[in-house]
Amino acid sequence: MAKTVLITGSTSGIGLATAKAFAAKGYNIAFNGLEENGAEIAAQVAAECNIEHLFSPANMLRAEEIKAFVQATLDRFGSIEVLVNNAGIQFVSPVEDFPEEKWNDIISINLTAAFIATKAVWPGMKAQQFGRVINVASAHGLIASAFKSAYVAAKHGVVGFTKVMALEGGPHGITCNAICPGYVFTPIVDKQIGAQMQAHNMTREEVINKVMLSEHAIKEFIPVETIASTILYLCDSDAAATITGIAMPLDAGWTAH
Ligand code: NAD
Repeated sequence: MAKTVLITGSTSGIGLATAKAFAAKGYNIAFNGLEENGAEIAAQVAAECNIEHLFSPANMLRAEEIKAFVQATLDRFGSIEVLVNNAGIQFVSPVEDFPEEKWNDIISINLTAAFIATKAVWPGMKAQQFGRVINVASAHGLIASAFKSAYVAAKHGVVGFTKVMALEGGPHGITCNAICPGYVFTPIVDKQIGAQMQAHNMTREEVINKVMLSEHAIKEFIPVETIASTILYLCDSDAAATITGIAMPLDAGWTAH
């Protein structure tokens, strides 16, 4: 019987690439995201790979919607083998101007939603003595950059949460790992460029080359497929069954500094 993966924020960027990787392996997929055409994006991936799916526009700001999304997935497919906590937002500003509501939203979507979703899938994973939880953190879960106070705080929190879940899951066949990408060219990065231009008083090219790619030892954006195939490996490979509690940099050498 096909396994089921629930991926938050899977109608764009890294989450969508991850959904495509799992779809190619025949998983049932529970899609989620706020893109207007999210339902169509999900249906297209499912049709291309001939898999079962559902789509939920659950807002990761709202615990009740997250719990209902998990329950709808369990009702539809009977079990959830893999959870990928991927939805995330970014906001770039010096701390003295950083809006408090943006701080709260970033902590809620990037950190608290991962806790709520993990809590909701946990009893089922324990009962079936199998689970794979991936938290999409960031290189900013390991190191900092100026003007990203909320994001860096949230992603460091995600790495800490991952370690705790690895300890709690170990006796029950559940692994939990964080992945820590450097710059991947997706809408979240594209949207940052304008704010970084303002914060650093730079042109678009300067932000890309001097702020973003300058951090990478390899001066390239990381392909979404690199992130997706690593997530698939950690969740679907027998060889990864004892890998747990790590925060894996996929950062083109950024944190090797
Ligand atoms: P993206 O903007 O392409 O995708 C983000 C997804 O999250 C979208 O589907 C969006 O609809 C969804 N989302 C946002 N807010 C939501 C909410 N309130 N409720 C439900 N869904 C919501 O960005 P991406 O680059 O694919 O980012 C995915 C994850 O990867 C994020 O957690 C991000 O922090 C992390 N990340 C990205 C990069 C990068 O360079 N792109 C680097 C490191 C980490």
